[in-house]
Parts: sequence; C-alpha cells; structure tokens
Amino acid sequence: MTHWNPDSTRTIPRLAVAAGLFGLAFAGCGFDDPAGSSKGPAGALADGRLTRELETFWHGQMAPHEVAPGIYQAHGVGNTNLVVTKEGFVVIDGGLPTSAEDHRKLLSPVASGDARYVIATHAHADHAGGLSAWIGEDTIVVAHREFPESQRYLTSLVPFFMPRNKIYYPESVPDLPEVIAVPLFRQFYPHLEPTLLVDDTHRFELGGERFEVIHTPGAEGADSISVWLPDRKILFTGDFFGPIFPMWPNLYSIRGEKTRFALPYIESLNRVLDLAPEIIVPSHFLPVEGREKIREGVTRTRDAVQYVHDATVEGMNKGRDVYTLMKEIRLPPELELSEAHGKVSWGVRAIWEGYAGWFHHETPQLYAVPPQRIWPDVVALAGGPAAIAQLASERVAAGRPVEALHLSAMALAADPAHVPSLKARLAALEVLQQRSGGINHSETMWLKRQVEETQRILKD
Ligand SMILES: [Zn+2]
Repeated sequence: MTHWNPDSTRTIPRLAVAAGLFGLAFAGCGFDDPAGSSKGPAGALADGRLTRELETFWHGQMAPHEVAPGIYQAHGVGNTNLVVTKEGFVVIDGGLPTSAEDHRKLLSPVASGDARYVIATHAHADHAGGLSAWIGEDTIVVAHREFPESQRYLTSLVPFFMPRNKIYYPESVPDLPEVIAVPLFRQFYPHLEPTLLVDDTHRFELGGERFEVIHTPGAEGADSISVWLPDRKILFTGDFFGPIFPMWPNLYSIRGEKTRFALPYIESLNRVLDLAPEIIVPSHFLPVEGREKIREGVTRTRDAVQYVHDATVEGMNKGRDVYTLMKEIRLPPELELSEAHGKVSWGVRAIWEGYAGWFHHETPQLYAVPPQRIWPDVVALAGGPAAIAQLASERVAAGRPVEALHLSAMALAADPAHVPSLKARLAALEVLQQRSGGINHSETMWLKRQVEETQRILKD
C-alpha cells in the first residue's frame, strides 16, 4: 500500500513551515536530521550518508504505508505508526505537531476516532509532538518514567538549543529574531502528560493484539522505550537505532544535550537480540525486515559499542589523555558502522567524560580563565597576527588543518578582521570538509556554517 512518489513537491511549502516551527524543538532525535536522496530513502541509506533532502521521503505520500496487516505508517520528519486492532488502535510516536493533522487525515481510512493508547518512545518533539492529535478523554498516554524530566529539561533550554539547532537544521528554524521566535516556539512546544509511566516493562492487550512496552535506554536518552508485538515479532524502535540501520550511536550530540551512556545501550541491544525481531519499525524512514539481517546489525552495533567502551576505559586506566584516545580508537573492520549520525571519536570522548566529567587535570580548567584570554599576548610576542597566519597557512599545507585552526583563532583574537588569518582558517575548514566526506551530518553542517561565516567576514 505504499504510494511512493519522490517527484512530488506538492506539500513542500507547508511542511517547510511546519518544520520551521517545530524543528526548533529538535533537541536531539536520531532523525531530526533531514536526510535522503533523489533515490528515496533506500538510496539515502545505501551510501551511509545523511544529506539534506528528506523531502524525497516525506512528501508525496498518498495513502497509509502498510508495514504488515493492521500496521500502518504516515511518513514525515518523524513517522506516525498505527497498530489497528478489533477494539481500537494504538499510536506509537506521532511525528511533529505540525504534521499531526496531515497524518491523521492520511491514516483516516484505517483509523477513525481517538486512539485507545498513544505511546511516546521518547520526549523529542518529532516523536511525542504529534501525539496530542490522537488523544481523547479515554486515551491512555504511555511513556517512560524519565519522560517528564526529559520533556522538562528540553523545554527549559529552548533559548539555548534554538540557535544551535539553526546551525544543524537551518531550514527548520524560522528566520525570525529570537525575541519573537523563542516565545512563539514555547507556545507551540508539544507538552504531553502521560497517564501511564513505564519503568521496565508494561504489557497490555487490545483487540487480541499483545503489546509489550519495554525500556531501551542509552540510544537517544534515558526515557527511550520500544514497543514489541510478541505474536508478530515486530519491534517499534523510535530512535533507538538512529536514522540508519545499523549505525554507530550518537552517544553525544554536538548540538548539546545530555550524554547518552554506552553500557545501558549495550544492555538494551541485548534485550532486542533476545526478542529476535523479524521487522523493526523506526520512527524515521522505512521499516527494516529480515530476522537475520536485524540480528547481524544489532550484534555488530553491540560489539562495536562494547569495543570502543572497553578501549576507552583501558586507555583511561593507562593514563592516556582523551585526545590521544579520540585519535587512536578505531573500529576494527569487522565492526565498522555508518558514522552518519554519531562519530566514534566523539563517542570515545562521551564515554570518557560520561565517567570522569570535564576536568582533564589541567589546572586552568578549574578557573574561569580560558586559553583565549592570553592569545592576544602571544600574538603580540610573535610580532603581530601576520606571523601566526603564515604559520597557520603552512600547517594547512602540511595537512594539519586543526593546528591551523588553533593558530588562526589565536591571530583572530588579536585582530578579528585579519585577512590572512581568515584565509588560513577558511583553507583549514575546507580541508576538514574534504576529509569528512560529508558523511556525518552534524560535522558537515557545523563546518558548512563555519565556512560561510568566514567567507562572510572576508567579504565585508
Ligand atoms: Zn527522531
């Protein structure tokens, strides 16, 4: 029942506006990342990249996508998933609030009235946001016990997250002054009040269909839950695996957000392995089918996370510093995974700082005096920014762009408009762009923004 029409641009403007309001809330989901390719989602996933063209996926759906008998999806930035039974239906994630109405309309041939249950796999707006549209007086609203706290902290930090989200999801944030955008966003930020909080497992039956809501933390937060249909071997995973299956998990989102922990994720992956699902239904992109394929992907992910975790802990115990470990720890070839969302090196740091926090035993870190404070002095000692810029250019040429960035930052601290320093910075960023291959979405967007900013200053 899939009506896939990647050429349709019918709903682009409306969805762009929708994403504009609520993209602000993308405080960290797996697939707040617009992604895809002209080949549709399968093509997008094939090369392990996240690009900026999710439109090919979310536009043009003309009818519910039937995953299995009685199980339907409406696609969007976040999908709405329905399980229809003889006694009513269950909604698992509802996409963004602004697509909820469209999703309801699209799914109306298979589900009318209010849901018997709605289940939020976690508090991110592209999952919990659209659920309100399905809630009536008797609807049971299910979430994990950590959900209210996740929702609270994400909402409380809207002014902090908003400019950051603008870097990573620029078209999702309206081009309004913050003084207008923040209250507007707050007004629309989805607020869900669960009526049933799950600790570890909650089982229920509806119209002959058995459901198990299980806690699967460690992926996109402590409040992550998955929904298991034991009689069908189907698992709804929200953002548990991220937007591509299988992939290295986003243990730390550079946009900011609480660190996610490796070992609870491994436990959750083992839990999924024990279930032996035949279909997994994430809330972004299409379901993944095949018991063996799923088992292999989950096993590889689990072993990769364990490998990096253990190597990090071993390095910490041997007194290696975090930068060395970020550089040295690599997945062995048999455990390689897509790094389109998280990166292994960032995961190393997340594991380190998840255990040991931010103090890396360098005395100045204990005090509110950053290294930047003395950069102008160093630049003066070097005879001005020109010498530093020259050295930065040499480092770029020598294939050491990060050192060049350190140097140009020093020079620019003394003279923010120093052209040779800006040019060295630009050249260093371009080398990093080239090296990154555009594979990791967050890194790609961050570097892009840095390049644009540098180019803008150079023009002025
Ligand atoms: Zn998400």
